[in-house]
Amino acid sequence: RPKDITDLPGVGPNTAQKLIESGYTSIEAIAVATPQEIAQVTGIPLPSAQKIVSAARETLDIKFRTALELKKERLNIHKITTGSKSLDDLLGGGIETRDMTEFFGEYGTGKTQICHALAVNVQLPEDKGGLNAKAVYIDTEGTFRWERIEQIARGLNLDPDKVMENIYWIRAVNSHHQMAIVDQLYDMLSKDNVKLVIVDSLTSHFRAEFPGRENLAMRQQLLNKHLHQLIRLSEIYDIAVVVTNQVMARPDVFYGDPTSAVGGNIVAHAPGVRVQLKRSRGNKRIARIVDAPHLPEGETVFVITEYGIKD
Ligand code: ADP
Ligand code: MG
Repeated sequence: RPKDITDLPGVGPNTAQKLIESGYTSIEAIAVATPQEIAQVTGIPLPSAQKIVSAARETLDIKFRTALELKKERLNIHKITTGSKSLDDLLGGGIETRDMTEFFGEYGTGKTQICHALAVNVQLPEDKGGLNAKAVYIDTEGTFRWERIEQIARGLNLDPDKVMENIYWIRAVNSHHQMAIVDQLYDMLSKDNVKLVIVDSLTSHFRAEFPGRENLAMRQQLLNKHLHQLIRLSEIYDIAVVVTNQVMARPDVFYGDPTSAVGGNIVAHAPGVRVQLKRSRGNKRIARIVDAPHLPEGETVFVITEYGIKD
């Protein structure tokens, strides 16, 4: 199956260069674009753009499927434990592959702690709630700590150095870089056993770079593209995508009502599972499922410990 845009029929060196210069660096990026958009941006004639987009979509299997096929796909979904039985139960057994899970809440509610725990837990064997696989950690706020990984690994009796070796960390310096990293992941994930991609946080760069109402349209457009890249990634490689989203105590235009429209409508409707986190007493936190098509609404309590997320 084609791996590179130059493998697509009709994409010679010239066309490839035009596509790459305009930011269509992967088959995925082409598949989610419209032929009109590509023709306009790159100067490639519309009929050629139509052929290229069709080929890209075919490659990525964007086509009709029967409900039975969907059921069979769902049976193949894998789950990663959070470390807390009650939080796993709330999530229908854990964090699912082929889907995006968003944790949103105010500062200090445990979003980053959950990400650290998952980056370790995905490495556990399947009978212990893991997928025997590696994690990618896209850190936009500089809050990743290898020390926490070490502690959580020790708590699970895993070799901390081995666990740290299986986490690919990268600091995204701005929203453009953040999106470019996800583009590059298509290549990386086809070669390595990664089953979890974390973006902590999804929205901080976008919020900082596109403040206020006047930038709302541009911000949502970019965020939308980014989210769809991530969702396709989860589907193509059967991986779990986990994103975090900080909401303010006093919601601004960007966040709106924190329970219904975090990041505007686009973030609210994109992820498969949205979990709101709230502080409780001490190290206790409350997790609430906000809208997941296949999960009942509900909430539960978990604790943040030195060894990760527990009941
Ligand atoms: P955010 O939602 O802003 O990402 P964090 O995930 O960083 O929040 O959670 C911060 C909380 O995690 C702190 O309030 C602290 O109580 C807890 N925490 C951080 N490190 C440890 C640790 N080593 N042991 C226990 N709790 C910790
Ligand atoms: Mg954080």
